Amino acid sequence: MVLDDLGNSLRDSLGKLSGQSRVTEEDVEEIVKEIQRSLLQADVEVSLVMELSDSIKERALEEESPAGTSARDHVLSIVYEEMVALVGDSTEIPLEEQTILLAGLQGSGKTTTAAKMAWWFSKKGLRPAIVQTDTFRPGAYDQAKEMAGRAEVDFYGDPDEEDPVKIARDGLEATSDADVHIVDTAGRHALEDDLIDEIEDIERAVDPDRNLLVLDAAIGQGAKDQASQFDDSIGIEGVIVTKLDGTAKGGGALTAVNETDSSIAFLGTGEEVKNIERFEPSGFISRLLG
Ligand code: GDP
Repeated sequence: MVLDDLGNSLRDSLGKLSGQSRVTEEDVEEIVKEIQRSLLQADVEVSLVMELSDSIKERALEEESPAGTSARDHVLSIVYEEMVALVGDSTEIPLEEQTILLAGLQGSGKTTTAAKMAWWFSKKGLRPAIVQTDTFRPGAYDQAKEMAGRAEVDFYGDPDEEDPVKIARDGLEATSDADVHIVDTAGRHALEDDLIDEIEDIERAVDPDRNLLVLDAAIGQGAKDQASQFDDSIGIEGVIVTKLDGTAKGGGALTAVNETDSSIAFLGTGEEVKNIERFEPSGFISRLLG
């Protein structure tokens, strides 16, 4: 991370340290305050912000800067290391046969993400298929089919079948030539019991290799409940943050990662099938601190 990755105020506070060989408690307080301000604005949960602040403060004051390193660069590297520890590395997604189940609330971007991920796997040389089990949202079938067409990947759905578990089973069978199965599920507006029951049933039928939680970057403080409920019911191995092309910074994803003891797998950066990126900590950290 370089200074340019940071927001103006934080850059200024760190800039003041240039030429200094030591940092004072006052310097550290000012820097930590700027970091707190950015992270809270990015919707990172207060307790996480406090934890991070404490570790940065402690290390910046206790650790000697290595010979030849300015106080500014030393503090900057501590900030970066502590942020990486919080954000985590990208969720491992092996390029092999697998079944992935997508969970999330309605509108979070699951259907779009299923097509994006399928496109991503196809570019890696695998043969993906999307299985669309959302019988709840009108239009989900058509949207998924259309997007699968745009991604040029296999697709299964059944607009006449009401049982999502049957669709999931039939879908896996019908697309057995595919290497990677991405199973899209229904969302609801809130975490209702029937949503949780349904996804548990699908999970049992599909027996996925990993369950990924799709979260809108603007989710903010609501991330905690969602993450913990989906984690309790099916177990969450990774998070996908969508709509990062908007203004939201996606700090809620950190809450979800912390809550589910997982990491971030992918980022969604637009409405097209190609608008997907593998998560990479430094860009995300710059965004949170920018
Ligand atoms: P689902 O209900 O969870 O399946 O959500 P959808 O996939 O239908 O997405 C809801 C809306 O968000 C749609 O209008 C999508 O085009 C839009 N959307 C999804 N991902 C992104 C993204 O990364 N960026 C933008 N700008 N829009 C997105």
